[in-house]
Amino acid sequence: MTAELEERHYDAVTVLLGPDGGRYPDGNTFLVRGPEESLLIDPALGMLDRRNALPAVDRILNSHCHEDHYAGNHLYPDVPWHCHEADIEGFESLEKMLEIYGYGPVIEEEWIRRLVEKYHYTPRADVVPFRDGDVFELGGSVRVRVIHAPGHTRGQCFFWIEPQDMLYLADVDLSSFGPYYGDAWSDLEDFETTLDALEALAPRSWATFHHIGVLEDRESFEARYTRFRSMIGDRERRLLEFLDGTPRSLDEIAAHRFIYRPGDDVLFVDAVERRSMAMHLERMCAAGSVREVEAGRFLRS
Ligand SMILES: [Zn+2]
Repeated sequence: MTAELEERHYDAVTVLLGPDGGRYPDGNTFLVRGPEESLLIDPALGMLDRRNALPAVDRILNSHCHEDHYAGNHLYPDVPWHCHEADIEGFESLEKMLEIYGYGPVIEEEWIRRLVEKYHYTPRADVVPFRDGDVFELGGSVRVRVIHAPGHTRGQCFFWIEPQDMLYLADVDLSSFGPYYGDAWSDLEDFETTLDALEALAPRSWATFHHIGVLEDRESFEARYTRFRSMIGDRERRLLEFLDGTPRSLDEIAAHRFIYRPGDDVLFVDAVERRSMAMHLERMCAAGSVREVEAGRFLRS
């Protein structure tokens, strides 16, 4: 077994680790096996390396409709795919998928190419919707409960896996990058509501798609959670400094970079900076800490 095909076992859950620590564009895929059924959560790119020894499952659960989370779905054409009803449109067609991102025409051609060639985007008309509170019974005491956790996308969900009370957090990934709310279908305030709700939950372990895998104690979770959440305030503080003394446009704000680092070579960086920082600007204007001093130019109050 190569390093890229590592697995970790936690009772009913097997974590199929992605290469390079599950860093984007890869991620960790979660296999949940019960006495009667089994399912796979978020088949990542790493599943392609496992294509000669794929675990047999009865269904696929997608925590949300994003390229890195469905890159391995196409390896399972004959089992049902499930996704929250709010994100399900993304599986209907590439056009609808592009609406979720809303990255705009500048990068569209290249983004479509990547979605199809690299992430194996596969439209499917019969994806089965789930909702908050739905439960997948896998036999015995093994079950997976859906917790709607919007903000990253409209339909992102956590999965509470019993009996070990492992909470799968999808892209609330507790990374040092911080929360991602850069899509047309992202929402900063929903993300914060989701973070509030997460803090109040008391599972026995926390699992993420990227980087971390599984955290088994509350102290580790809280340290990561606090740092992750603080990135929202950090971005807002840096924006306030940038708007101190000189009125700036959204173009200038996006070019300055508050989400990605200046050297990060990411195709959708401009779209994500704009969408994310426009939400910060809007609420800072509403709160009075920033004013629009002339059309499209903003200054710290
Ligand atoms: Zn995502």
